[in-house]
Amino acid sequence: MAEGPHYRDRSVLIHGKFRSEKWDFQDHITPPITTAVTFRLRSAERGAAGFQQFANPNINRDTATPIYIYERLDEPCSGMLEENLAFAERGETAVVFATGMAAIAAAIGIHVRQGDHIVMPPAIYGCTYSHVVNWLPRFGITHTLANFQNEDALRAAIRPETRVVYFETPTNPTMELIDLEMVARVVAEVNATRPADQRVVSIVDNTFASPFGQRPLTHGIDFVVHSLTKHIGGFGTNMGGVVIGPRRSETDLLLYRKDFGGSIAPDTAWHVSVYGLPTLPHRLEVQQRNAALVADYLAEHPAVAQVWYPGRADFPQRALAERQMRDYDGNFAPGSMLFFSLRGSLQESYEAAMRVSNHIAAHALSVTLAVSLGQIKTLIEHPASMTHSAIAPEVQMQGGILPGGLRLSIGLEDPRDIIADLERALA
Ligand SMILES: *Cc1c(COP(=O)(O)O)cnc(C)c1O
Repeated sequence: MAEGPHYRDRSVLIHGKFRSEKWDFQDHITPPITTAVTFRLRSAERGAAGFQQFANPNINRDTATPIYIYERLDEPCSGMLEENLAFAERGETAVVFATGMAAIAAAIGIHVRQGDHIVMPPAIYGCTYSHVVNWLPRFGITHTLANFQNEDALRAAIRPETRVVYFETPTNPTMELIDLEMVARVVAEVNATRPADQRVVSIVDNTFASPFGQRPLTHGIDFVVHSLTKHIGGFGTNMGGVVIGPRRSETDLLLYRKDFGGSIAPDTAWHVSVYGLPTLPHRLEVQQRNAALVADYLAEHPAVAQVWYPGRADFPQRALAERQMRDYDGNFAPGSMLFFSLRGSLQESYEAAMRVSNHIAAHALSVTLAVSLGQIKTLIEHPASMTHSAIAPEVQMQGGILPGGLRLSIGLEDPRDIIADLERALA
């Protein structure tokens, strides 16, 4: 896409590259789904060349015609999706995985070994938290939970053996934002005095905002991870994940995927390429418009204590939101996720949140009680008892995950119906 006419982001997301080396599909309007687990090698020499080529740092994956060997290593549908995801996030390379968690495990896993240390905030996606807190210590990898709102606290948490600074913005589920450029600056300062093999990398989970709403690499962050299961897949039919970052990490990401086995299914990659990514800007724009209406409605409701939506004027970090949450055209993009808390004591608000959830489960059409997010269907869930229940209650409170808090992922329904369903449940 370097030469020739310039097309806008929305158009490129629909078409991808005009021609891809991953498959000769110049006569296909959509690419074929390939389902072969193994590939004919034609000759011993070509087979050897395929193994030479795989994950070879000296071969440019964008221009080389791949010799495919075995589906777990690489195959055309995921290769095409990777090209388009790298474009969407403005990254040099993308490697896709079977789930968001497989991508997160890889993004962290390629950077740590026994004795290393990770810094992350206490409020983070529950399985990411559990991965770092419950599993990595078995391999001698430790962590510190730091306050990323305080630049000095973040700096102080980074030790000589720290290799990864990991975070989300907006934070799941509280919608608290973390300043991308502040984190990039702190990491750059630390790295300025370190040899290459002791550098810290920054990794951000951009699942909540999606690449439509925020492109962290352009703010100096090293790696972006996504659950493709959410906004990018968009329809709630397939699971996937991706790591997007510098070319120098491509080899390790491909080898990690090969050896830990978290490869994406080709038909999943195909669905995300053909249905998900091309429609992302259009879905998000409408969902975001609906979210603003729902946020304003909830903020006025007497049973609601507080609403956290980056698009509201009273959002505590509104200036930061306006700085880093921007769509492809540069417009403010506060997204389609919101968090709100119910009034009452800790116990009362917890019980009220359970009652609202149960009412919705039993009676609502346009709002569904379910975990996950970023679909065309509006989903509500209770983080304290569901997605974030792996986090101890004291740590939940420390991270702002209130017992009476409910998370909404706004979909494409008529906003009047979403509001009416919420009205009945809150009554
Ligand atoms: C869902 C989610 C994940 C994990 O993704 P899976 O595809 O379910 O493995 C990670 N981070 C965030 C913010 C998520 O919402």
